[in-house]
Amino acid sequence: MAHAITNICNGCGACLKMCPTGAIRGEKKALHVIDPSLCIDCGTCGRICPVEAVRDASGAVCAKRKYAEWLQPSFDLRVCTPCRICVDTCPVNCLDLGEPSAGPEPRVWPFLKEPKRCIGCSLCAADCPVGAITMAPRGPRAAETAP
Ligand code: SF4
Ligand code: SF4
Repeated sequence: MAHAITNICNGCGACLKMCPTGAIRGEKKALHVIDPSLCIDCGTCGRICPVEAVRDASGAVCAKRKYAEWLQPSFDLRVCTPCRICVDTCPVNCLDLGEPSAGPEPRVWPFLKEPKRCIGCSLCAADCPVGAITMAPRGPRAAETAP
């Protein structure tokens, strides 16, 4: 399944500008359409649509959220392995692995390198194989639990 736009859409174009996969098409002031083959169910269109015209993959109406209320990943570094799956999953490439830590076994850890680009999709949290990522309110920098 994929997200879908209902005929409440007024063609403002906000979703089209934000979709990370280019799945949305439509002329200004005309009904927009999502290509299900490109949609990754990140939910960004649903959060940004001012008239709540988007339904999620289960058919539920997506609630509009102010940008400041969009969540960001928070990493529990005591659990992280680090496999870098989250870095590779992120559709907007805003995660990265940091500098190696000091110590006899230097390790690198994931962090939110470009917080302003994060769309709060939670795909990184969903894909983490050890449950080291939770979605948390936005802040100067998403909280990290030290290893
Ligand atoms: S859910 Fe995400 S990928 Fe799918 S159409 Fe909306 S913004 Fe694009
Ligand atoms: S929630 Fe995670 S995967 Fe989604 S944009 Fe933010 S960092 Fe990337």
